Amino acid sequence: MKVKSLHRVQPHTKVRLSHFPSSDTGRYKAPQEADADLERHRQRLDSLQELLAASAQKAVLIVLQGMDTGGKDGTIRHIFTGVNPQGCDVTPFKVPTPLEARHDFLWRAHAAVPARGMIGIFNRSHYEDVLVVRVHKQISDKEAHRRMDEIVKWEAMLAANGVAILKFFLHISYTEQTRRLAERLADPDKHWKISESDFAERKFWPDYQRAYEDALSRTSRKNAPWYVIPADHKWYRNVAISEILVHTFEAMKMKYPKPKFDPKKIVLD
Ligand code: AMP
Ligand code: MG
Repeated sequence: MKVKSLHRVQPHTKVRLSHFPSSDTGRYKAPQEADADLERHRQRLDSLQELLAASAQKAVLIVLQGMDTGGKDGTIRHIFTGVNPQGCDVTPFKVPTPLEARHDFLWRAHAAVPARGMIGIFNRSHYEDVLVVRVHKQISDKEAHRRMDEIVKWEAMLAANGVAILKFFLHISYTEQTRRLAERLADPDKHWKISESDFAERKFWPDYQRAYEDALSRTSRKNAPWYVIPADHKWYRNVAISEILVHTFEAMKMKYPKPKFDPKKIVLD
């Protein structure tokens, strides 16, 4: 089975994260087997990004969500190494600023949607507004569902306007998060990566898993699918996401634009 269909959440199906093994490595048995594929995908993405920019008809929006230490930053670094930085915008979503908080929750997300010809990467996203705030009971379940309906409509509108949307949930186990946090604690050069909130949020692990399950179940659509990526093994996470990206770009059937002049008639003197 193609990686794309293997990890995709079918629209209107109930997701149980416990049924998705976070340590799966698909068709690969060892990281070395995946190295060459990842390299091939990276090079292909570089060419496809150029085609996206040249044709300037469509945009690609990549949403990255996951628990702390899930690998959102690592995914961006590993997969987009080699892609022209001029063609990518990365937007981190933090606790809303006072100005953002005075607007509807999609306002800041909409402002960050990539323009045609661009790749936009959301490091966290508008989904925080149905996750962290729901877990901390700042909104009711009813409000969370209302927001999810709005998200589905908003993403459908973007898709109809030429934005290819891919959403990745980086699925790690609690044990793997423990291991990663311990590793960061033991390395003074990694302390900057941890904040006290990471330890506080960990206590809400089951609530987060439930909130994610609900969001994944309600907001995966053909034109804005969710992928649950087994992310305990960083190498598999990278190769799986890069493969899905390459397939999605290729399915967009983009073409270089025809020149507005006849190159044969140009004489360079
Ligand atoms: P980090 O991704 O480690 O830089 O942390 C960003 C923090 O901002 C995370 O704890 C998020 O949960 C939090 N955050 C992002 N968006 C929102 C939001 N809409 N409401 C509340 N907290 C948010
Ligand atoms: Mg963090």
